[in-house]
Amino acid sequence: MIISVASGKGGTGKTTVSTSLALSIAGGVQFLDCDVEEPNAHIFLKPAVVKIEKSFIPVPEIDREKCNYCGKCREVCAYNAMMVIPATEETKGNILVFPHLCHGCGACTYFCPQKAIKEVDKEIGVVEIGDVGSMQFIHGRLNIGEAMAPPLIRHVKTYINYTRTVIIDAPPGTSCPVIESLNKSDFCILVTEPTPFGLNDLILAVEVLRKLQISFGVVVNRSDLGDNKTDNYCHDEKIPILMRIPFKKEIATAYSKGIAVVEAFPEYKKDFAKLYNTIKAWKAS
Ligand code: SF4
Ligand code: SF4
Repeated sequence: MIISVASGKGGTGKTTVSTSLALSIAGGVQFLDCDVEEPNAHIFLKPAVVKIEKSFIPVPEIDREKCNYCGKCREVCAYNAMMVIPATEETKGNILVFPHLCHGCGACTYFCPQKAIKEVDKEIGVVEIGDVGSMQFIHGRLNIGEAMAPPLIRHVKTYINYTRTVIIDAPPGTSCPVIESLNKSDFCILVTEPTPFGLNDLILAVEVLRKLQISFGVVVNRSDLGDNKTDNYCHDEKIPILMRIPFKKEIATAYSKGIAVVEAFPEYKKDFAKLYNTIKAWKAS
């Protein structure tokens, strides 16, 4: 079973929930930190890294001897990563590639009628693989200044071990890296906080999950702060609230020291185990 942990906005406690959940499940667990722009689960899980792989995407390189500036590559590029200036009677044409916009989809190479495009590897980051006791741990680190998170997330997800309970820490928000991380999940835990910003971004995340047709429930962090609008929204939308974590200064202090909640407060282990059992029972029903 693949359980993703996501949140419409950053800073709601997503990694607090994902790491504590992973540490509370007995048996084979695999943890994937797909928040590749800012991975931080390793701070709490402290894996022993045993393997590092570089991650690349193929970007086009133009053979100007063969290119006739027909513009087909620009036409098929959905990401505006190419610009073609057609040749005229007076001027030779020109072609520019913007590698930072290229998603490495290969469409330009495939459709070039002159076979004038060669693909060259561009390094976008690394995937690190390790262990936390019996737990398998994998995360991606996107190079600084690199925008292409989805291909690195796909690389991380090639390591999914379907014989284990897989916990995916997704990036915050609702953009492409989130969609890539949630893809093929059996269930998603949406972590939110009972504030107007928290609710606004929860609503956006719910819309995404409904579009993706992934079942989900909500964990309310710092549940005793803010107002009751999140509760009312979940009630009206028939969204189950799976767990509430009250605000505790000691939890924030442990977080700031890189200590997982269930390690600082072992009494929470049973709550996270219950959260997992609820999801497991839902999957079995
Ligand atoms: S499709 Fe090929 S030939 Fe046409 S402009 Fe692009 S690289 Fe040049
Ligand atoms: S590989 Fe895809 S994204 Fe990159 S330039 Fe070619 S068509 Fe555009």
